[in-house]
Amino acid sequence: MKYVYIQEFGEPLLGGEKPEPALSGTEVLIRVKAAGVCHSDLHLWEGGYDLGQGRKLSLKDRGVTPPITMGHETAGELMAVGPDAEGVAIGESYLVYPWIGCGVCPTCRNGFENYCGNAAYIGVHRDGGYAECLRVPHPRYLLPIGDLDPADVAPLACSGVTTYSAVKKFGAQIKDQPVVVIGGGGLGQMCIQVLRALDGAGAVVVDLDPAKREAAVAAGALAAVDGGAPDAAARIAAAVGGPAFSVLDLVGSPQSAALAFDCLAKGGTLVMVGLFGGTAPWSLPLIPIKAARILGSLVGNLGELRELLDLARAGRIKPIPVTRLPLDRANDALVGLRRGEFVGRAILCP
Ligand SMILES: [Zn+2]
Ligand SMILES: [Zn+2]
Repeated sequence: MKYVYIQEFGEPLLGGEKPEPALSGTEVLIRVKAAGVCHSDLHLWEGGYDLGQGRKLSLKDRGVTPPITMGHETAGELMAVGPDAEGVAIGESYLVYPWIGCGVCPTCRNGFENYCGNAAYIGVHRDGGYAECLRVPHPRYLLPIGDLDPADVAPLACSGVTTYSAVKKFGAQIKDQPVVVIGGGGLGQMCIQVLRALDGAGAVVVDLDPAKREAAVAAGALAAVDGGAPDAAARIAAAVGGPAFSVLDLVGSPQSAALAFDCLAKGGTLVMVGLFGGTAPWSLPLIPIKAARILGSLVGNLGELRELLDLARAGRIKPIPVTRLPLDRANDALVGLRRGEFVGRAILCP
């Protein structure tokens, strides 16, 4: 099987060929039809995140070391099963849940494998979908997609479930008042759809880029506000109808987080998803004074991906535009993504 991998952080991916993995126990093998190239792959490729004040989160220091085969948004056809794998059918198409934990700790047993301290994420800690075949440890991580196009559903495993899980953290508030969504890129677009699918009151999208604001309104946002305007917070309040109870920061820069906090109503909830980098800009006393709830949200759990896939199957979540590329153009896909060249998702189709 062909695969591409990181040999050295920041260097071009290398291509290789190796035998298809042999399966044991509950393992299953997927013939990869679609592997999404995600923004977090860029961070992985670069080897870390900017934490602000000159500090960097180094993946190497956290035990993520090359060689790494990336790819956490994978869909394809089941081609083989281990002796103890049950409940899945060879030849059927599946979306792979990638945010796998140890499976035995209390966090995992409570259904939050994505928060496990001993993570074994596909495409990060273990081999991912930038390959012709992908080994998955258990059939429970395979979600049947039926006749849906693998390239359409692959992004649900990361950008989709990330947005879905973040929106769900607002609870029933989304029905009473629009959610302020800071960042009108791919996740912001997904957010508009998720809010509609969950019968939310809608989204007020904030972005610096006029093209993204226009796209947000075209996709059904109630309003789009220029986050760089000096009176941005007032404009957001006008669009929401007052201080916001639900604010989602998909950017994660000191500027976006400051604006998000300024918009927040007393007792409101700010969910942080973006990983742009930097340090928190909030004045500490204002957090209790506002009784603000500030939550981080990291991808989503298996149950959430199942719910989201059900919505996609019912046609309530429409696929995002995709650009299909062969596996050997993985480097072009990463460079193109960094330059912002793709509308929607770049998908490797081995
Ligand atoms: Zn665990
Ligand atoms: Zn991702």
